[in-house]
Amino acid sequence: MRSAGDSEGGSYEYLFGPVPSRRLGRSLGIDLVPSKTCCFNCLFCQLGGSTELTLERREYVPIGRVISELKCWLKAGHEADFMTLSGSGEPTLHSRFGEVMDWLREHSEMPVALLTGGALLYMPEVRSAARNAHLVKASLSAWDQASFETINRPCPGLTFEQLVAGERAFRKEYTGEYWIEVFVVKGLNSAVGQMSRVAELVKELEPDKIHMNTVIRPAGDKSVGAVSAEELHRLGELFSPLAEVSEVSASEGSGSAATDEDAVLAVLRRHPATTEQVCGSLKASIDSMQKCVDALEAAGRIRREQSGKDVYYVFLG
Ligand code: SF4
Repeated sequence: MRSAGDSEGGSYEYLFGPVPSRRLGRSLGIDLVPSKTCCFNCLFCQLGGSTELTLERREYVPIGRVISELKCWLKAGHEADFMTLSGSGEPTLHSRFGEVMDWLREHSEMPVALLTGGALLYMPEVRSAARNAHLVKASLSAWDQASFETINRPCPGLTFEQLVAGERAFRKEYTGEYWIEVFVVKGLNSAVGQMSRVAELVKELEPDKIHMNTVIRPAGDKSVGAVSAEELHRLGELFSPLAEVSEVSASEGSGSAATDEDAVLAVLRRHPATTEQVCGSLKASIDSMQKCVDALEAAGRIRREQSGKDVYYVFLG
């Protein structure tokens, strides 16, 4: 049984946020698959290991209920910079994700984004549905089958060749904004020779933007290391267009309302976050948020993890 998440205007099962996103501003997340249902089991995934590693496309959550929640959210007059198909797994695994985007385009002026690992873009029907997004962000962090298996740990049956062919085919067909995310893992793809090969492949995809990330939130696998900001910038120069290096979002809440523990747990259930990130999501003040996370930590509901200079809170239950 999925647990409900909080979003502006009430409690929803399939919507979360709007959350402050490093790239998309305030983004309303739309979650179309159960937690960690994915085609990959990336070493660096912040959500932990994939509970369902699959290539099977089906209606994982009832589309009627997702649309009811969207109707409710829009009717309440809320706004976001993006309505984003993302969340806790691979959204293109949902056999009707294109219909959700169609509905959004018809009923809202807000732009629609699709965040995908790109695993299923080799399927013509997935590319056709994905073309409904105003913005698609796919990922590419490997350069051959062996590195793909080490870094992304794909579902058996999915090859690196398929991934790249799908992302290439999509670029040819898609006229919207196409971004590629490259995730750098220390010691696995952080050497200049390795990243140059990734950069060659990414160049062929002719993305509008390239984003480079390293481990910022705590990764599922503790052996996964981050590269320094300097290394990230240096590797970013191998790309054309030049890769943009992500900075940690630290939007500080300015509200003063007392913080609701259930709302904080709903945010952290989705992914680990710093106090500032949770504040941004819930529009709470730092002071009340800190008291709330301290209480939740003392109660054993969350635990803290140091990642670089930042302290992240991880949902326990
Ligand atoms: S594609 Fe995204 S959700 Fe899936 S395992 Fe990789 S990082 Fe996690």
